[in-house]
Amino acid sequence: MEIEQDYSSLENIKKLQNEQFLSHLTYIRENSKYYQKKFAKSGLDWQNIKSLEDIHLLPVTTKEEVEMYNLEFQTVSNQDIIEYVTTSGTLGDPISIGLTREDQKRLEWNERRSLEMCGITAHDVIQITTTLDKRFMAGMAYYLGATALGAAVIRSGIGDPDFQLDNIKRFKPTVLVAVPSFAYKFGNYLLGKGIDPKTTSIKKIVCIGEPIKDEEFEPNTLNEKLSEIWDVELYSTYASTEMATAFTECKEGKGGHLLPELIHIEILDENNQPVPHGQVGEVTVTPFGIKGMPLLRFKTGDLARVHSDACSCGRNTLRLGPIEGRKGQMIKWKGTTLFPQQIENVLNHISEIDNYIIELSLDDLGLDKLKVILPDHLDQGIIDRAQRLLQQRLRVNPILEQNTAAYISSEILPKGSRKPRRFVDKREAIK
Ligand SMILES: [Zn+2]
Repeated sequence: MEIEQDYSSLENIKKLQNEQFLSHLTYIRENSKYYQKKFAKSGLDWQNIKSLEDIHLLPVTTKEEVEMYNLEFQTVSNQDIIEYVTTSGTLGDPISIGLTREDQKRLEWNERRSLEMCGITAHDVIQITTTLDKRFMAGMAYYLGATALGAAVIRSGIGDPDFQLDNIKRFKPTVLVAVPSFAYKFGNYLLGKGIDPKTTSIKKIVCIGEPIKDEEFEPNTLNEKLSEIWDVELYSTYASTEMATAFTECKEGKGGHLLPELIHIEILDENNQPVPHGQVGEVTVTPFGIKGMPLLRFKTGDLARVHSDACSCGRNTLRLGPIEGRKGQMIKWKGTTLFPQQIENVLNHISEIDNYIIELSLDDLGLDKLKVILPDHLDQGIIDRAQRLLQQRLRVNPILEQNTAAYISSEILPKGSRKPRRFVDKREAIK
């Protein structure tokens, strides 16, 4: 099922977005104690917001705000909640979100649209290799969307390559939903078993949680490595629990298409002003139609840029480029400003480096101290190469240390965590 509005004129898309925005705003005005209070305090008159063009008159909503007043953001009684989920809490405390029946239907629609964007149909068999429990929204969303589409789902869950392989043998899935670094690891596991991933039934990988493109839409190292071992089309998708909406790439792979009936996007600078078109800034979203915990102008903390030039697929919707960094993760190291993602991109070039963690703390003077911890089985030659490459590509010389593989693994996936990380920010803990 192709969605007409995606191919509609810009004017029609704008009209649709405007209608969705106004009904979302009306719902919030009537039901959200938090926003009623917030707007009263800021002296904002709701009557002044006549269309989507006026959205800039509304104050933004920060993650800290939602964390601090979490329960007040809920606009329905607990009786109307059918499921509770939380955000992954990679920075700070996780946020709790209650979904109503309508929210679940909306999520199902969103994910169905997202899978269709990747050309997935009712004929596909989809193996979901992400967390399907632990209060996680994404896995469940994929499950709902895939079944609504009429595709078959295998709830493989996270990790356990043996079990993943068993599913491939048994059900011949055509699609993997996976964190790309896991798909890479799993591909290598198959090779180790004498199975060529290229000969399996998998034809597409829907990648979540990690970027596979740079800002020019060129494949990054992870992408290249994946393409070496798998014979698949790779699709990137970007979403978060708070927005409950995905930006998914079409076959052209030039950024994730916006779903106009579900979300509005702005790219803002530090003063909450729009950045010049095509520049990088903070992704700020207004997801439409959410009933349990509706948000207005929510600042995600993710840095990216928007593209509005025509996409060769024929859709006229805006596209969101790859996430280029996290706002809270900016590192100032000896006069240079950089993001952990840039260090990851460099380290991924050295195939001997199979594991590492980037650690940021404060030194005695309160300055950023940047450390990369590598496994102790690597010899000095490889450590020197990493140092040289970081210096050449990024002009930085982080402190390179070595530690046991067990230590690194425990830092990547700390106990109780469900989302692997490559970057640990210890600056807050020290302050
Ligand atoms: Zn497209």
